[in-house]
Amino acid sequence: MDRNKEMIIKTVKNDSNGKFRNFPMVPRVVFGRGCFSQLGDILLPMRKNSEAPMIFLIDDVFENSPLVNSVPLLFNDQIIFVSANEEPKTAQVDVLVTKIRKDFQEAPSGIIGIGGGTLLDLSKAVAILLNNTGFAATYQGYDLVSKPATYHVGIPTISGTGAEVSRTTVLLGPEKKLGINSDFTTFDQVLLDPDLSIGVPTEQWFYTGMDCFIHCIESLNGTYLNAFSQSYGEKSLELCKEVFLGFLSPSESRDKLMMASWHGGMSIAYSQVGVAHAMSYGLSYVLGTKHGIGNCLVFQHLEEFYPEGVELFNKMMHHNDITLPVGICKDLTEDEMNTMIRVSLNMEPLWENALGSNWRNIITASKLRSIYTKI
Ligand code: NAD
Ligand code: ZN
Repeated sequence: MDRNKEMIIKTVKNDSNGKFRNFPMVPRVVFGRGCFSQLGDILLPMRKNSEAPMIFLIDDVFENSPLVNSVPLLFNDQIIFVSANEEPKTAQVDVLVTKIRKDFQEAPSGIIGIGGGTLLDLSKAVAILLNNTGFAATYQGYDLVSKPATYHVGIPTISGTGAEVSRTTVLLGPEKKLGINSDFTTFDQVLLDPDLSIGVPTEQWFYTGMDCFIHCIESLNGTYLNAFSQSYGEKSLELCKEVFLGFLSPSESRDKLMMASWHGGMSIAYSQVGVAHAMSYGLSYVLGTKHGIGNCLVFQHLEEFYPEGVELFNKMMHHNDITLPVGICKDLTEDEMNTMIRVSLNMEPLWENALGSNWRNIITASKLRSIYTKI
């Protein structure tokens, strides 16, 4: 079947009542090499009083680094270092919220997340849970949050996920890996300082960057595509090509990938991701494979769905001298394989975006098994 012929450029009526969705966007953003030095001035007017701290959640890769010395601490502000070795969990959010409530008499003035998608998502979730009762897992889903979050700021130190612009925070819960998708999730302020991504290891730079590239391919080739998403997706794809196939200086690469990530995130706001994401959720759920590399591991085998995208991906791997690990799924038990397939098939909107409303006739459990087996 020629999916391109079947593809309809839909108008965006993708809420359950058939209405156009009214999305929040990040209301304030500052961009520029070195703009981290302005953080103190940005936070000052948001401080409620000297007892209500700013809480900085910082990737522990920065512990003892110069960045920590330039965090604009005042009064009783607190830095909490968090490891990004594992992706964020609902229980981790609950522990952080309990700690912050216990440590301070007054509710914080703000939560500032500094790191990659892991820290950005944790910060969004903590900011929501500080103002909403119960446990983080209760809010995994769509529009379940009733009260506005604490003021929260996102400061990415690695580019690609688009978590800095999105209205979701992806969490692994006791029952599912699912985002808290709500109008209150989006950051109140984002600070984009490309210099913060100096020092990202090459492979991680590639994996997280490919998350952005794959967002573009999945959005631009999806049946949910519309002019809003297309405009951002095309710009992001162009920037990804410059970064991963061109010969830019490192600082130009950092600038451009930061903006590619932003546009890629905006592109999927009004559409959806597709096959690679649906399958990488399964990998992550069963094996704990991280998002960026998980997407790459799946995407290399998706030429049947994204022929041009996979060809470009292979060129990018070659150009950047990246070799992906092999044999990831070879020791899976039958039960684990079945769980992986079930988790993936549950991502219905992703499949519908990728393949149209008829997707169940195209994607079967045995089809998924055959792809997973290659990984
Ligand atoms: P990450 O935050 O998991 O970090 C990856 C690695 O890079 C970590 O080891 C981290 O310590 C290191 N790192 C980060 N910045 C660094 C720096 N400047 N120097 C050296 N090392 C650095 O990576 P990621 O790929 O940005 O995020 C993945 C997470 O993002 C997943 O949990 C995924 O679910 C989530 N995600 C969220 C959204 C969203 O819209 N909310 C979208 C896509 C992905
Ligand atoms: Zn992604």
